[in-house]
Amino acid sequence: MIVIGGGSGGLAAAQRAAEYGAKVALVESHRLGGTCVNVGCVPKKVMWNAASLAEGLRDAPDYGFALSAGAHDWALLKEKRDAYVLRLNGIYEANLAKRRITLIRSRADFVDSRTVAAAGSILCAPHIVIATGGRPLRPAIPGAQLGITSDGFFELPHRPERVAIVGSGYIAVELAGIFAALGSHVTLVLRGETMLKQFDCMIGESMQKILRDEGVSIITQAWPSSLDRDARGQLTLPLRDGRRLEPFDSLLWAIGRAPAVEELGLDRAAVELDAYGFIVTDKYQTTSAAGIYAIGDVTGRAQLTPVAIAAGRRLSDRLFGGEGDRHLDYHNIPTVIFGHPPIGTVGLSEQAARDDYGDQEVTVFKSSFIPMYHALTAAKPRCDMKLVTVGPKRRVVGVHVVGPGADEMMQGFAVAVRMGATKEDFDDTVAIHPTSAEEIVTMR
Ligand code: FAD
Ligand code: NDP
Repeated sequence: MIVIGGGSGGLAAAQRAAEYGAKVALVESHRLGGTCVNVGCVPKKVMWNAASLAEGLRDAPDYGFALSAGAHDWALLKEKRDAYVLRLNGIYEANLAKRRITLIRSRADFVDSRTVAAAGSILCAPHIVIATGGRPLRPAIPGAQLGITSDGFFELPHRPERVAIVGSGYIAVELAGIFAALGSHVTLVLRGETMLKQFDCMIGESMQKILRDEGVSIITQAWPSSLDRDARGQLTLPLRDGRRLEPFDSLLWAIGRAPAVEELGLDRAAVELDAYGFIVTDKYQTTSAAGIYAIGDVTGRAQLTPVAIAAGRRLSDRLFGGEGDRHLDYHNIPTVIFGHPPIGTVGLSEQAARDDYGDQEVTVFKSSFIPMYHALTAAKPRCDMKLVTVGPKRRVVGVHVVGPGADEMMQGFAVAVRMGATKEDFDDTVAIHPTSAEEIVTMR
């Protein structure tokens, strides 16, 4: 098997195939670990941890500690974070060697549907896996290159004092929370009225209020027309309606990601793309070309690390492990947006459940409260929860939480949703007290 791309999906597919005894070559053009390890989940979570500590330090006097947060050394944090990522790169390389996977450090492209060119060599295999991921988008407006993307966020040597973030999805919300907690003034620029539109409406509404209360400026109905920089290096963002947002030290585009397919020579392999350039696959991750598979972000479905890993492992289970029907079920994938506070969600939004099952079939349970931790603190962000149930037995098809602990809460509830648990099952489960999670099993 040839795997193109050594990120979350490619590494998982390659390693699982090698464990079954397959002869595997993995081609990676940049750093092993891909987006998640180098410019995604891992360094992001380090920054999220730092921001959580900053919030803890802010609240500490309310719990009787006589301390002040003091200055935060962004450069030191970056140095330690980069060193951690470098260690992970090495661990991934060692893991490949342990499984006798041939690592080829090169860009790869197709010669034809059985052949790949890499590092000046020609590789042939009956199975070729495309796991090339994606890259952050910039808008097609003058000056867009003056802004950074999430990749540039991880290169920032210092924390910008005034930062604008354009976008309203995962990255915009996560990085807004990090910058704000560490002391930057953040302006969030949304093209619509609300954020996180792909989730249950409670999530965006709740998060928007929390961010505003934390001092983040949220500008809505804002369509950038250009990005300008003056002689002092300050950025201005003119909008199509004549408004001008300024001044900023840094502007970050967080408007989605494009698949990394341009340089693969997919036309030579007859691999079909959809209207957005993502590789079209069937439920077995097979592309339009027999023997060529695609996994992870490059397929455009649920762009999450565990999804890429699960798709890669299942593909190798099927190809080399004799598990003929093994494939990934893309329903009920739990996900967390590492905002401040975090957001956890699994299953259908209320609207999606109403669309799928009809209004009569849907019953929704909600809870909104101030977590006990905040009983003593000056800041009082609320925790919002929603259960979406369907049918007379009230099967739980959606669990949505915005609030501290949501990140660690969701994994277990995702198991329950996958197993078809009903509201009665939730109610019959004894609560853990005092926690926020207990609200999920005590909602009326
Ligand atoms: P990638 O990890 O992007 O790997 C693709 C690899 O292919 C890269 O290493 C690239 O160099 C290589 N490549 C590309 N073209 C070629 C070529 N022609 N030849 C050879 N090699 C090539 N997901 C989560 O689940 N949780 C999170 O908290 C989370 N946080 C994120 C934060 C940020 C800022 C970003 C940007 C993403 C985050 N994600 C998160 C998403 C997650 O990183 C991706 O879903 C995941 O990395 C996708 O894995 P992949 O294997 O499909 O692609
Ligand atoms: P998202 O798809 O989450 O959000 C992109 C947002 O950009 C949309 O909400 C859209 O807003 C807005 N947008 C699109 N085009 C424009 C434009 N031209 N001008 C202004 N706004 C625009 O993408 P992200 O870039 O935030 O993240 C990429 C992916 O990476 C995510 O989808 C996710 O799969 C993954 N990721 C996962 C994380 C996690 O698991 N915690 C963390 C970070 C990333 P609108 O609402 O108006 O349509």
